[in-house]
Amino acid sequence: MTEARQLPAVGTVLERAALRALAAEWPRALVADAVRAIIADARAGQPLPDSDEAWRSAVEGRVQSRTTATLRAAINATGVVLHTNLGRAPLARAALSAVEQVASGASTLEYDVDAGARGSRHVHCAALLAELTGADDAIVVNNCAAGLVLALQALASGRETIVSRGELVEIGGSFRVPEIMAASGTTLVEVGTTNRTHVADYRTALTPRTGAIVKVHRSNFTLEGFVAEASVAELVPVAAEGNVPLLHDFGSGLMLDLSPWGLSGEPTAREAVRAGATLVMMSGDKLLGGPQAGIILGTREAIAALRRHPLARALRVDKLTLAALEATLQLYRDPARALREIPALAMLTAAVTAIRERAESLATQLGGATDLRIEDSEATVGGGAFPAARIASVALTFGGAVDALEARLRRAALPVVGTVRDGRLRLDLRSVPPDQDALLLARLRAALGPV
Ligand SMILES: *Cc1c(COP(=O)(O)O)cnc(C)c1O
Repeated sequence: MTEARQLPAVGTVLERAALRALAAEWPRALVADAVRAIIADARAGQPLPDSDEAWRSAVEGRVQSRTTATLRAAINATGVVLHTNLGRAPLARAALSAVEQVASGASTLEYDVDAGARGSRHVHCAALLAELTGADDAIVVNNCAAGLVLALQALASGRETIVSRGELVEIGGSFRVPEIMAASGTTLVEVGTTNRTHVADYRTALTPRTGAIVKVHRSNFTLEGFVAEASVAELVPVAAEGNVPLLHDFGSGLMLDLSPWGLSGEPTAREAVRAGATLVMMSGDKLLGGPQAGIILGTREAIAALRRHPLARALRVDKLTLAALEATLQLYRDPARALREIPALAMLTAAVTAIRERAESLATQLGGATDLRIEDSEATVGGGAFPAARIASVALTFGGAVDALEARLRRAALPVVGTVRDGRLRLDLRSVPPDQDALLLARLRAALGPV
């Protein structure tokens, strides 16, 4: 162990020519911090750099790791198209450009250009959402969880909310229905059993204290066998009988029928609205393919009550989100264009032959990479939608020192995230937007090259 008195002072180290150059390139305080950390490590027994060059590389490594953004772009090669940990839906070009325009200067966020006076941020997507889904009105908040909190606070706080035991679920990102509901000032009244809940169970639970009935879409798992549930349409008369709102947490935000691509069994937003719930809640960054947002569709009266509630102010979305959402929604006026230009939809509906061609082209450009194969794969939708669906896909797979390769790809400035299975690293190309192929190739070349 190095004696304390043998360790150099920070100031002395900073005088080294190599470090003076670094201090010109980076903020001096960061370079000094790095030197201090290296000396502290030496005090704990680590070897001290013993040359100018060794100091330069040790300090530069630390400064770089501190200045790399923790939130940065990545390549999602997991085959889970809407990956909650990897940021869910990538935005369409039109949405990116709307964000840039609104963010780079002043905007009409709360300004009514016709009246020349203060306007409301709530107008921005409401009419468009109504047009696209058939709802009377809409409000946009931070995410779907916030939507449920706002709806319960505004319509059922201090009263009871009836929900099926089969729907007290946990959804990605620590969203637990019972906890969110409990935090919304309403008393949970559970009905039915895990596998079976009948319309009569809800009706029996109705009391003068009932404030709402909640129906939650089981987004991320399927229940099979001896099961029964009450549909939204069946619950509409029960809610009317109790004179309480029916809240439908529908989740996925599916706007178009994707059954031609094998994704069937989930309602579209329009179908969910038509089923008759008072409010329908969904995410903006799942199948809708837009920014993180919670979209609440519903009757004029219920949406007005939500807008008036003080929590609406706390849960409101910012102008960047509204810009991205409005531009994404505009694309849905032409469904063919939405399928082409909204990356989530384009990835989910891409022909497997096109994905195979990309895989072959990447493999060819990687030349004789050892133990590289092109294999059939199965992608999933992710984001709590179509949990049982398996979408035919193609993966590049690598053998050999798989764990080291996986870590090199993952730890880079532009991380590539794949999966390791049966001793091979798999990079599924369905979840990689095709315009990232060149970046993926560059990252693979760097990771496969000499260390
Ligand atoms: C995903 C999901 C949520 C949570 O949505 P966020 O936008 O992430 O808050 C809530 N309910 C259902 C049914 C979901 O699928």
